[in-house]
Amino acid sequence: MFFCVLASGSHGNATWVEENDKAVLIDNGLSAKEVETRAKARGLNLNHLKALAITHEHSDHIKGVGPLARRYNLTVLTTKKTAQAAAPTIGRVQLKHFEPGADVDLGFLTLSTVAISHDAVEPLAYVIKGDSKVLGLLTDIGRVTHLVRESLKNLTALVLEFNHDLTMLLEGEYPYHLKQRVRGDGGHLSNEAGAALLGDLYHPGLKRVVLGHLSQQNNTPVLALRAAQAVLDRLGVKPYLSAAEQDEPTPVFEL
Ligand SMILES: [Zn+2]
Ligand SMILES: [Zn+2]
Repeated sequence: MFFCVLASGSHGNATWVEENDKAVLIDNGLSAKEVETRAKARGLNLNHLKALAITHEHSDHIKGVGPLARRYNLTVLTTKKTAQAAAPTIGRVQLKHFEPGADVDLGFLTLSTVAISHDAVEPLAYVIKGDSKVLGLLTDIGRVTHLVRESLKNLTALVLEFNHDLTMLLEGEYPYHLKQRVRGDGGHLSNEAGAALLGDLYHPGLKRVVLGHLSQQNNTPVLALRAAQAVLDRLGVKPYLSAAEQDEPTPVFEL
């Protein structure tokens, strides 16, 4: 099993996860052409793409879903409510619904879905299970719940939101209502909150951590990585740590 975060941030998100020459894309906020360019740059084969799963209907996660699904004949997987909310953006695609919290068997990977707190109709985190490896994808989360902590145990790799540095957000140029939205229960995790959650989720089997959905206005990779490193240093552990970017895909990470 391997994965590559093709893009991460408020201008577009997409994560490629592949097992045995079959791949699923989680979200697509990129144009079909940009997905093709980024996938090819990392040696990913677009013919391996079999399905596209959606976390929630915000445009940075779905604006490229329709064109890509139609071009590659992909089934789009999400909850009924999210599909309804996303329909005007996505247009006609082949859809498969599931209930939030359901396990979705793709045949090559299993997607366990976890309801999260974010200001969308039915937002989800995904826990993606291969033969023996487990990848957690957790971004766009306002508040860390008991369910999240319980559901994201025992991961091999984790893509975790480190959205903003709280001081940069509060002192930055966002209008007051947007600052409140970002830091609220329906918003995004700060570096501090992400680091605390990383400390809770860490176990010796967690080999790789990728920080995601970093704000370009209210965060820097250096600050996010420093916050994550501090908690890992406190635990005395050294999983591979990096930050995903908006404009460049990550390397391909083999689990
Ligand atoms: Zn987002
Ligand atoms: Zn969102």
